[in-house]
Amino acid sequence: MFCQSLTFSATANPIIYQNATPVFIDSEYETWNMDPLALKKAFEKYPHPKAVVVVYLYGTPAKIDEILEICKEHNTPLVEDAAESLGATYRNKQTGTFGEYGIYSFNGNKIITTSGGGMLVSNNEERIKKVRFWSTQSREPERHYEHKEIGYNYRMSNVCAGIGRGQLKVLDKRIAKKTEIYEKYKKAFEDIPEIKMQSYVDESKPNHWLSSIILDKKSKVKPLDIIIALEKENIESRPIWKPMNMQPVFKDYDFIKVKEKSVAQDIFERGVCLPSDTKMTDEEQERVVKVIIKLFKKENE
Ligand SMILES: *Cc1c(COP(=O)(O)O)cnc(C)c1O
Repeated sequence: MFCQSLTFSATANPIIYQNATPVFIDSEYETWNMDPLALKKAFEKYPHPKAVVVVYLYGTPAKIDEILEICKEHNTPLVEDAAESLGATYRNKQTGTFGEYGIYSFNGNKIITTSGGGMLVSNNEERIKKVRFWSTQSREPERHYEHKEIGYNYRMSNVCAGIGRGQLKVLDKRIAKKTEIYEKYKKAFEDIPEIKMQSYVDESKPNHWLSSIILDKKSKVKPLDIIIALEKENIESRPIWKPMNMQPVFKDYDFIKVKEKSVAQDIFERGVCLPSDTKMTDEEQERVVKVIIKLFKKENE
């Protein structure tokens, strides 16, 4: 299975659960997601993968048209990990609805939450029925308890689902606020040439779950300097996901890239996720900006 390397481990773990073999795919600089050129190259080396798993990092859609076209060419299903991108769109269509399957997460850290759990979507009704069967302990339609297959307890409780229905009502507001936060950071860092926001393609509208930046290669201020300076002010920021091909647990699997240096690794080394909570006030965001700008002013003095 082809899987975007720059992501959270939850994208890749299910491949191992299924005894399949992941082949990790590098990212491109525009959206930070799967590079269509690297995907093409992967198909040259491994012409018959079971599926392609793309991720929409921090709520930013990938180059979906290009990726879909390559998948169609090779008759391979696309699975979208839209865990971070609920509500983000590409050509005005929801992320998670382009491939054969889309997954969403309602974990506590996501744009809306049910406290835990997630959702699988597909237009393939037969497959969805099968998944529902597996997720509820594979109970055969008999009066007694009859099992012909191994089942799982992957159902969402009705209490959690109820919370989710309430949360759905605030999704649009959250996206508007997240977008506002992203735009404020973008504007605040306009005069610092070393800082670039994670960008996106014109066809897409990210949900801006996390506002993230990448520092110039020549920047004397490093991501860790920013994280530590913010920490001193009691403000939490985070590194970028460490690519799966760099993780000890996945070290034995192949990684396909087209650039000499891995783009995923480069983004990991030069990026930072900034505070993006929708409850953050303007004053609080201004404090974050001030701490960061001060680091660059000091360096340039
Ligand atoms: C949160 C997340 C998931 C899924 O997380 P769960 O805890 O299983 O809901 C999957 N992929 C990515 C990229 C995520 O950020």
